Amino acid sequence: MEYAIQQSDKEIFELINAELHRQNTGLEMIASENFTFPSVMEAMGSVLTNKYAEGYPYKRYYGGCEFVDRIEEIAIQRAKKLFKCEFANVQPHSGSQANGAVYAALLKPYDKILGMDLSHGGHLTHGSKVSSSGQTYQSFFYGVELDGKINYDKVAYIAEIVKPQIIVCGFSAYSRELDFKRFKEIATSVNALLMGDIAHVAGLVVADEYPNPFPYCDIVTSTTHKTLRGPRGGIILTNNEELASKINKSIFPGIQGGPLMHVIAAKAVGFSENLKPEWKIYAKNVKINAKIIAEVLMQRGYNIVSGGTDNHLLLLSLLDKPFSGKEADKALGASGITVNKNTVPGEIRSPFVTSGVRIGSAALTSRGMKETEFKYIANKIADVLEHINDAQFHSKTKQEIEEFSKNFPIYTKAFF
Ligand SMILES: *Cc1c(COP(=O)(O)O)cnc(C)c1O
Repeated sequence: MEYAIQQSDKEIFELINAELHRQNTGLEMIASENFTFPSVMEAMGSVLTNKYAEGYPYKRYYGGCEFVDRIEEIAIQRAKKLFKCEFANVQPHSGSQANGAVYAALLKPYDKILGMDLSHGGHLTHGSKVSSSGQTYQSFFYGVELDGKINYDKVAYIAEIVKPQIIVCGFSAYSRELDFKRFKEIATSVNALLMGDIAHVAGLVVADEYPNPFPYCDIVTSTTHKTLRGPRGGIILTNNEELASKINKSIFPGIQGGPLMHVIAAKAVGFSENLKPEWKIYAKNVKINAKIIAEVLMQRGYNIVSGGTDNHLLLLSLLDKPFSGKEADKALGASGITVNKNTVPGEIRSPFVTSGVRIGSAALTSRGMKETEFKYIANKIADVLEHINDAQFHSKTKQEIEEFSKNFPIYTKAFF
Protein backbone atom coordinates (compact mmCIF):
# COMPACT_ATOMS: atom_id res chain seq x y z
CA MET A 1 0.00 0.00 0.00
CA GLU A 2 1.17 3.45 -0.94
CA TYR A 3 0.55 6.20 1.55
CA ALA A 4 0.24 9.89 0.63
CA ILE A 5 2.60 10.77 3.46
CA GLN A 6 5.25 8.49 1.97
CA GLN A 7 5.46 10.90 -0.97
CA SER A 8 4.78 14.19 0.77
CA ASP A 9 6.82 13.82 3.94
CA LYS A 10 9.34 11.01 3.87
CA GLU A 11 11.05 12.28 7.01
CA ILE A 12 7.98 11.94 9.25
CA PHE A 13 6.88 8.75 7.46
CA GLU A 14 10.14 7.08 8.35
CA LEU A 15 10.06 8.26 11.94
CA ILE A 16 6.53 6.90 12.41
CA ASN A 17 7.68 3.57 11.02
CA ALA A 18 10.68 3.61 13.34
CA GLU A 19 8.27 4.13 16.24
CA LEU A 20 6.16 1.18 15.04
CA HIS A 21 9.31 -0.95 15.07
CA ARG A 22 10.20 0.30 18.57
CA GLN A 23 6.73 -0.56 19.86
CA ASN A 24 6.86 -4.05 18.32
CA THR A 25 10.35 -5.01 19.43
CA GLY A 26 10.52 -3.69 22.99
CA LEU A 27 8.59 -4.37 26.19
CA GLU A 28 6.39 -1.43 27.13
CA MET A 29 5.91 -1.43 30.90
CA ILE A 30 5.17 2.24 31.56
CA ALA A 31 2.04 1.96 33.73
CA SER A 32 0.19 4.81 31.95
CA GLU A 33 0.66 3.38 28.47
CA ASN A 34 -1.31 0.88 26.45
CA PHE A 35 -1.84 -0.27 22.85
CA THR A 36 -5.19 0.82 21.50
CA PHE A 37 -7.36 -1.22 19.16
CA PRO A 38 -6.86 -1.03 15.37
CA SER A 39 -10.56 -0.04 15.15
CA VAL A 40 -9.84 2.93 17.41
CA MET A 41 -6.88 3.90 15.22
CA GLU A 42 -9.11 3.83 12.14
CA ALA A 43 -11.65 6.15 13.74
CA MET A 44 -8.85 8.51 14.78
CA GLY A 45 -7.45 8.66 11.27
CA SER A 46 -10.83 9.41 9.72
CA VAL A 47 -12.41 12.41 7.90
CA LEU A 48 -14.00 13.47 11.18
CA THR A 49 -10.88 15.52 11.88
CA ASN A 50 -12.14 17.95 9.24
CA LYS A 51 -15.32 18.87 11.08
CA TYR A 52 -15.92 21.85 13.33
CA ALA A 53 -18.64 21.13 15.89
CA GLU A 54 -18.37 23.71 18.66
CA GLY A 55 -21.14 23.12 21.18
CA TYR A 56 -22.86 19.87 22.11
CA PRO A 57 -25.02 17.36 20.16
CA TYR A 58 -28.00 19.10 18.50
CA LYS A 59 -26.84 22.46 19.95
CA ARG A 60 -23.95 23.40 17.66
CA TYR A 61 -22.57 26.68 16.38
CA TYR A 62 -21.89 25.17 12.93
CA GLY A 63 -23.94 23.49 10.20
CA GLY A 64 -23.34 20.03 8.80
CA CYS A 65 -23.25 18.39 12.21
CA GLU A 66 -25.95 15.77 11.60
CA PHE A 67 -23.50 12.87 11.65
CA VAL A 68 -21.09 14.10 14.29
CA ASP A 69 -24.10 14.82 16.53
CA ARG A 70 -25.00 11.16 16.39
CA ILE A 71 -21.41 10.07 16.94
CA GLU A 72 -21.01 12.21 20.05
CA GLU A 73 -24.41 11.12 21.35
CA ILE A 74 -23.38 7.45 20.99
CA ALA A 75 -20.06 8.13 22.74
CA ILE A 76 -21.97 9.77 25.64
CA GLN A 77 -24.50 6.92 25.88
CA ARG A 78 -21.76 4.31 25.94
CA ALA A 79 -19.74 6.22 28.55
CA LYS A 80 -22.81 6.45 30.81
CA LYS A 81 -23.54 2.74 30.41
CA LEU A 82 -19.94 1.80 31.04
CA PHE A 83 -19.48 3.86 34.19
CA LYS A 84 -23.11 3.50 35.34
CA CYS A 85 -23.71 7.24 35.69
CA GLU A 86 -26.14 9.88 34.47
CA PHE A 87 -24.01 12.48 32.71
CA ALA A 88 -20.85 12.29 30.60
CA ASN A 89 -18.78 14.89 28.79
CA VAL A 90 -16.60 13.19 26.18
CA GLN A 91 -14.95 16.36 24.82
CA PRO A 92 -11.88 16.89 27.07
CA HIS A 93 -8.76 16.74 24.92
CA SER A 94 -6.85 15.05 27.75
CA GLY A 95 -7.03 14.01 31.39
CA SER A 96 -5.41 17.28 32.44
CA GLN A 97 -7.99 19.30 30.50
CA ALA A 98 -10.75 17.31 32.18
CA ASN A 99 -9.38 18.13 35.62
CA GLY A 100 -8.79 21.79 34.73
CA ALA A 101 -12.37 22.10 33.50
CA VAL A 102 -13.78 20.63 36.71
CA TYR A 103 -11.80 23.07 38.86
CA ALA A 104 -12.77 26.01 36.65
CA ALA A 105 -16.43 24.95 36.85
CA LEU A 106 -16.61 24.47 40.59
CA LEU A 107 -13.96 26.68 42.20
CA LYS A 108 -13.04 30.34 42.38
CA PRO A 109 -9.38 31.39 42.22
CA TYR A 110 -7.71 30.90 45.65
CA ASP A 111 -10.24 28.26 46.69
CA LYS A 112 -8.60 25.23 48.28
CA ILE A 113 -7.82 21.87 46.68
CA LEU A 114 -6.74 18.89 48.78
CA GLY A 115 -5.06 16.22 46.67
CA MET A 116 -2.51 13.45 46.84
CA ASP A 117 1.09 14.66 46.86
CA LEU A 118 2.81 14.19 43.49
CA SER A 119 5.81 12.54 45.16
CA HIS A 120 3.47 10.10 46.95
CA GLY A 121 1.69 8.97 43.78
CA GLY A 122 -0.62 11.89 42.94
CA HIS A 123 -0.78 13.73 39.62
CA LEU A 124 0.49 17.19 38.62
CA THR A 125 -3.12 18.36 38.17
CA HIS A 126 -3.97 17.56 41.80
CA GLY A 127 -2.53 20.86 43.01
CA SER A 128 1.16 20.68 42.16
CA LYS A 129 2.78 24.11 42.22
CA VAL A 130 4.10 23.74 38.66
CA SER A 131 0.57 23.08 37.36
CA SER A 132 -2.19 25.68 36.96
CA SER A 133 -4.09 23.66 39.60
CA GLY A 134 -1.49 24.75 42.16
CA GLN A 135 -1.14 28.28 40.83
CA THR A 136 -4.78 29.29 40.43
CA TYR A 137 -5.93 27.59 43.62
CA GLN A 138 -4.42 27.07 47.06
CA SER A 139 -3.33 23.49 47.16
CA PHE A 140 -2.73 21.13 50.06
CA PHE A 141 -1.72 17.50 50.14
CA TYR A 142 -2.09 14.18 51.81
CA GLY A 143 0.22 11.27 51.13
CA VAL A 144 1.10 7.71 51.99
CA GLU A 145 2.75 6.29 55.10
CA LEU A 146 6.10 4.49 55.03
CA ASP A 147 4.16 1.27 54.37
CA GLY A 148 3.06 2.79 51.07
CA LYS A 149 -0.62 3.07 52.02
CA ILE A 150 -2.95 6.01 52.56
CA ASN A 151 -3.78 6.61 56.21
CA TYR A 152 -7.40 7.83 56.06
CA ASP A 153 -7.36 9.18 59.60
CA LYS A 154 -4.55 11.48 58.54
CA VAL A 155 -6.45 12.56 55.41
CA ALA A 156 -9.41 13.39 57.66
CA TYR A 157 -7.16 15.35 60.02
CA ILE A 158 -5.61 17.37 57.18
CA ALA A 159 -9.04 18.01 55.63
CA GLU A 160 -10.32 19.28 58.99
CA ILE A 161 -7.47 21.80 59.21
CA VAL A 162 -7.44 22.86 55.54
CA LYS A 163 -11.23 22.93 54.94
CA PRO A 164 -10.86 22.51 51.17
CA GLN A 165 -13.65 23.22 48.67
CA ILE A 166 -12.69 20.07 46.79
CA ILE A 167 -10.90 16.84 47.69
CA VAL A 168 -9.27 14.90 44.87
CA CYS A 169 -8.79 11.18 45.22
CA GLY A 170 -6.90 9.38 42.50
CA PHE A 171 -3.33 8.67 41.53
CA SER A 172 -0.70 7.92 38.95
CA ALA A 173 1.43 5.68 41.15
CA TYR A 174 -0.48 3.83 43.90
CA SER A 175 -0.82 0.08 43.73
CA ARG A 176 -3.70 -0.39 46.17
CA GLU A 177 -7.45 0.08 46.15
CA LEU A 178 -8.91 3.42 47.19
CA ASP A 179 -11.62 3.58 49.83
CA PHE A 180 -13.96 5.98 48.00
CA LYS A 181 -16.59 5.62 50.72
CA ARG A 182 -14.15 6.83 53.36
CA PHE A 183 -13.07 9.70 51.12
CA LYS A 184 -16.73 10.72 50.76
CA GLU A 185 -17.21 10.66 54.54
CA ILE A 186 -14.17 12.91 54.91
CA ALA A 187 -15.40 15.26 52.16
CA THR A 188 -18.87 15.44 53.71
CA SER A 189 -17.44 16.17 57.15
CA VAL A 190 -15.76 19.33 55.85
CA ASN A 191 -18.43 20.24 53.29
CA ALA A 192 -16.15 19.62 50.31
CA LEU A 193 -16.94 18.17 46.91
CA LEU A 194 -15.22 14.88 46.10
CA MET A 195 -13.57 14.39 42.74
CA GLY A 196 -12.31 10.93 41.79
CA ASP A 197 -9.61 10.91 39.13
CA ILE A 198 -9.52 7.34 37.82
CA ALA A 199 -7.19 8.08 34.88
CA HIS A 200 -5.07 5.04 35.69
CA VAL A 201 -7.60 2.43 36.78
CA ALA A 202 -10.68 3.24 34.65
CA GLY A 203 -10.24 0.08 32.56
CA LEU A 204 -10.32 -2.01 35.73
CA VAL A 205 -13.24 -0.06 37.21
CA VAL A 206 -15.50 -0.73 34.21
CA ALA A 207 -14.73 -4.46 34.52
CA ASP A 208 -15.59 -4.45 38.25
CA GLU A 209 -11.94 -5.27 38.96
CA TYR A 210 -11.39 -2.09 40.97
CA PRO A 211 -13.77 -0.21 43.34
CA ASN A 212 -16.23 2.07 41.57
CA PRO A 213 -15.92 5.76 42.51
CA PHE A 214 -19.71 6.09 42.13
CA PRO A 215 -21.89 6.70 44.07
CA TYR A 216 -19.32 8.28 46.39
CA CYS A 217 -17.63 10.82 44.14
CA ASP A 218 -19.52 13.92 43.05
CA ILE A 219 -17.43 14.12 39.88
CA VAL A 220 -15.25 11.52 38.20
CA THR A 221 -12.59 12.30 35.62
CA SER A 222 -10.45 9.96 33.59
CA THR A 223 -8.21 9.58 30.62
CA THR A 224 -9.37 7.20 27.90
CA HIS A 225 -5.94 5.91 26.81
CA LYS A 226 -4.44 4.26 29.90
CA THR A 227 -5.99 0.99 31.18
CA LEU A 228 -9.16 1.90 29.23
CA ARG A 229 -7.15 1.32 26.04
CA GLY A 230 -8.98 3.87 23.88
CA PRO A 231 -7.69 6.95 22.06
CA ARG A 232 -5.64 9.65 23.83
CA GLY A 233 -8.19 11.89 25.58
CA GLY A 234 -10.26 12.64 28.68
CA ILE A 235 -13.82 12.32 30.03
CA ILE A 236 -15.83 13.82 32.88
CA LEU A 237 -18.68 11.95 34.57
CA THR A 238 -21.25 12.83 37.21
CA ASN A 239 -24.72 12.00 38.52
CA ASN A 240 -25.46 15.61 39.43
CA GLU A 241 -27.32 17.59 36.76
CA GLU A 242 -26.32 20.99 38.10
CA LEU A 243 -22.63 20.02 38.20
CA ALA A 244 -22.93 18.48 34.72
CA SER A 245 -24.27 21.71 33.28
CA LYS A 246 -21.48 23.76 34.87
CA ILE A 247 -18.87 21.30 33.63
CA ASN A 248 -20.19 21.36 30.06
CA LYS A 249 -19.90 25.15 29.99
CA SER A 250 -16.47 24.94 31.52
CA ILE A 251 -15.18 22.60 28.76
CA PHE A 252 -16.82 24.64 25.99
CA PRO A 253 -16.61 27.59 25.74
CA GLY A 254 -14.62 27.73 28.99
CA ILE A 255 -11.31 26.12 28.16
CA GLN A 256 -11.70 24.39 24.78
CA GLY A 257 -12.90 25.26 21.30
CA GLY A 258 -14.02 22.72 18.72
CA PRO A 259 -14.19 19.13 19.92
CA LEU A 260 -11.86 16.55 18.33
CA MET A 261 -14.64 14.63 16.56
CA HIS A 262 -12.27 11.96 15.25
CA VAL A 263 -11.14 11.28 18.81
CA ILE A 264 -14.71 11.33 20.13
CA ALA A 265 -15.64 8.70 17.51
CA ALA A 266 -12.58 6.71 18.60
CA LYS A 267 -13.68 7.04 22.24
CA ALA A 268 -17.06 5.56 21.23
CA VAL A 269 -15.31 2.68 19.43
CA GLY A 270 -13.06 2.09 22.46
CA PHE A 271 -16.07 2.13 24.83
CA SER A 272 -17.77 -0.53 22.70
CA GLU A 273 -14.70 -2.73 23.27
CA ASN A 274 -14.89 -2.01 27.02
CA LEU A 275 -18.54 -3.09 27.02
CA LYS A 276 -17.80 -6.55 25.57
CA PRO A 277 -17.60 -9.60 27.87
CA GLU A 278 -13.97 -10.14 26.74
CA TRP A 279 -13.04 -6.90 28.42
CA LYS A 280 -13.59 -8.40 31.86
CA ILE A 281 -11.11 -11.15 31.03
CA TYR A 282 -8.57 -8.59 29.87
CA ALA A 283 -8.92 -6.58 33.10
CA LYS A 284 -8.60 -9.71 35.24
CA ASN A 285 -5.44 -10.69 33.35
CA VAL A 286 -3.94 -7.22 33.76
CA LYS A 287 -4.23 -7.64 37.54
CA ILE A 288 -2.97 -11.23 37.57
CA ASN A 289 0.04 -10.22 35.48
CA ALA A 290 0.95 -7.29 37.74
CA LYS A 291 0.79 -9.64 40.74
CA ILE A 292 3.14 -12.09 38.98
CA ILE A 293 5.76 -9.38 38.42
CA ALA A 294 5.52 -8.34 42.08
CA GLU A 295 5.82 -11.94 43.32
CA VAL A 296 8.81 -12.82 41.15
CA LEU A 297 10.64 -9.60 42.08
CA MET A 298 10.02 -10.23 45.78
CA GLN A 299 11.30 -13.81 45.43
CA ARG A 300 14.39 -12.35 43.80
CA GLY A 301 15.03 -10.14 46.84
CA TYR A 302 13.40 -6.87 45.80
CA ASN A 303 11.06 -4.75 47.90
CA ILE A 304 7.71 -3.80 46.45
CA VAL A 305 6.07 -0.71 47.97
CA SER A 306 3.11 -1.81 50.16
CA GLY A 307 4.17 -5.43 49.63
CA GLY A 308 2.31 -6.03 46.37
CA THR A 309 -0.44 -4.74 44.11
CA ASP A 310 -4.23 -4.75 43.70
CA ASN A 311 -4.24 -3.09 40.29
CA HIS A 312 -2.19 -2.81 37.07
CA LEU A 313 0.96 -1.28 38.56
CA LEU A 314 3.59 -1.81 41.18
CA LEU A 315 6.38 0.26 42.65
CA LEU A 316 9.75 -1.36 42.99
CA SER A 317 11.65 0.20 45.89
CA LEU A 318 15.42 0.45 45.57
CA LEU A 319 16.00 2.22 48.89
CA ASP A 320 18.03 -0.79 50.10
CA LYS A 321 19.99 -1.15 46.84
CA PRO A 322 23.24 0.54 45.81
CA PHE A 323 21.65 2.09 42.70
CA SER A 324 18.90 4.62 42.01
CA GLY A 325 15.62 4.55 40.09
CA LYS A 326 17.31 6.56 37.37
CA GLU A 327 20.06 3.97 36.96
CA ALA A 328 17.54 1.10 36.98
CA ASP A 329 15.39 2.88 34.40
CA LYS A 330 18.46 3.39 32.18
CA ALA A 331 19.70 -0.22 32.46
CA LEU A 332 16.24 -1.64 31.77
CA GLY A 333 15.79 0.74 28.83
CA ALA A 334 19.08 -0.42 27.33
CA SER A 335 17.79 -3.98 27.70
CA GLY A 336 14.57 -3.32 25.78
CA ILE A 337 12.29 -2.93 28.82
CA THR A 338 10.65 0.50 29.13
CA VAL A 339 9.67 1.59 32.66
CA ASN A 340 9.94 4.88 34.50
CA LYS A 341 11.77 5.98 37.59
CA ASN A 342 9.51 6.96 40.46
CA THR A 343 9.78 8.33 43.98
CA VAL A 344 8.97 5.91 46.81
CA PRO A 345 7.79 6.41 50.43
CA GLY A 346 10.74 7.52 52.54
CA GLU A 347 12.49 8.85 49.42
CA ILE A 348 16.10 9.96 49.95
CA ARG A 349 16.94 11.06 46.40
CA SER A 350 15.75 13.94 44.21
CA PRO A 351 12.69 13.53 41.92
CA PHE A 352 15.12 13.42 38.97
CA VAL A 353 17.02 10.47 40.43
CA THR A 354 14.56 8.68 42.77
CA SER A 355 14.82 5.33 44.54
CA GLY A 356 12.09 3.49 42.71
CA VAL A 357 10.71 2.25 39.44
CA ARG A 358 7.05 2.11 38.41
CA ILE A 359 6.07 -0.98 36.41
CA GLY A 360 2.74 -1.63 34.70
CA SER A 361 1.16 -4.70 33.10
CA ALA A 362 -1.65 -3.23 30.94
CA ALA A 363 0.23 -2.71 27.66
CA LEU A 364 1.89 -6.12 27.52
CA THR A 365 -1.39 -7.81 28.48
CA SER A 366 -2.89 -6.10 25.42
CA ARG A 367 -0.20 -7.81 23.35
CA GLY A 368 -1.51 -11.17 24.56
CA MET A 369 1.22 -11.96 27.06
CA LYS A 370 0.19 -14.25 29.92
CA GLU A 371 1.53 -15.77 33.11
CA THR A 372 4.50 -17.58 31.52
CA GLU A 373 5.63 -14.47 29.66
CA PHE A 374 5.25 -12.23 32.70
CA LYS A 375 7.35 -14.61 34.79
CA TYR A 376 10.02 -14.56 32.09
CA ILE A 377 9.93 -10.75 31.93
CA ALA A 378 10.04 -10.27 35.72
CA ASN A 379 13.08 -12.53 35.88
CA LYS A 380 14.71 -10.54 33.07
CA ILE A 381 14.11 -7.36 35.08
CA ALA A 382 15.84 -8.92 38.11
CA ASP A 383 18.70 -10.21 35.91
CA VAL A 384 19.28 -6.76 34.43
CA LEU A 385 19.25 -5.12 37.87
CA GLU A 386 21.83 -7.65 39.04
CA HIS A 387 23.99 -6.46 36.13
CA ILE A 388 23.19 -2.78 36.59
CA ASN A 389 26.48 -1.52 35.15
CA ASP A 390 27.13 -4.26 32.58
CA ALA A 391 26.40 -2.68 29.17
CA GLN A 392 27.22 -5.91 27.38
CA PHE A 393 24.64 -7.80 29.43
CA HIS A 394 22.08 -5.11 28.58
CA SER A 395 22.64 -5.37 24.84
CA LYS A 396 22.54 -9.17 24.97
CA THR A 397 19.22 -8.97 26.87
CA LYS A 398 17.88 -6.45 24.36
CA GLN A 399 18.47 -8.94 21.54
CA GLU A 400 16.73 -11.72 23.46
CA ILE A 401 13.79 -9.44 24.20
CA GLU A 402 13.52 -8.50 20.53
CA GLU A 403 13.26 -12.17 19.56
CA PHE A 404 10.74 -12.82 22.34
CA SER A 405 8.63 -9.77 21.39
CA LYS A 406 8.30 -10.92 17.78
CA ASN A 407 5.91 -13.62 18.98
CA PHE A 408 3.49 -10.92 20.16
CA PRO A 409 3.10 -8.52 17.24
CA ILE A 410 0.86 -5.65 18.20
CA TYR A 411 0.47 -3.76 14.93
CA THR A 412 1.55 -4.85 11.48
CA LYS A 413 1.29 -1.37 9.98
CA ALA A 414 1.94 2.16 11.10
CA PHE A 415 -1.10 3.68 9.35
CA PHE A 416 -4.71 2.65 9.42
C1 LIG B 1 -2.36 10.57 33.32
C2 LIG B 1 -3.12 11.26 34.37
C3 LIG B 1 -3.77 12.49 34.12
C4 LIG B 1 -3.54 13.34 32.91
O1 LIG B 1 -3.79 12.82 31.69
P1 LIG B 1 -3.21 13.52 30.38
O2 LIG B 1 -4.09 12.95 29.33
O3 LIG B 1 -1.79 13.10 30.28
O4 LIG B 1 -3.36 14.98 30.52
C5 LIG B 1 -4.58 13.03 35.12
N1 LIG B 1 -4.72 12.41 36.29
C6 LIG B 1 -4.09 11.24 36.57
C7 LIG B 1 -4.30 10.61 37.91
C8 LIG B 1 -3.26 10.64 35.64
O5 LIG B 1 -2.61 9.52 35.94
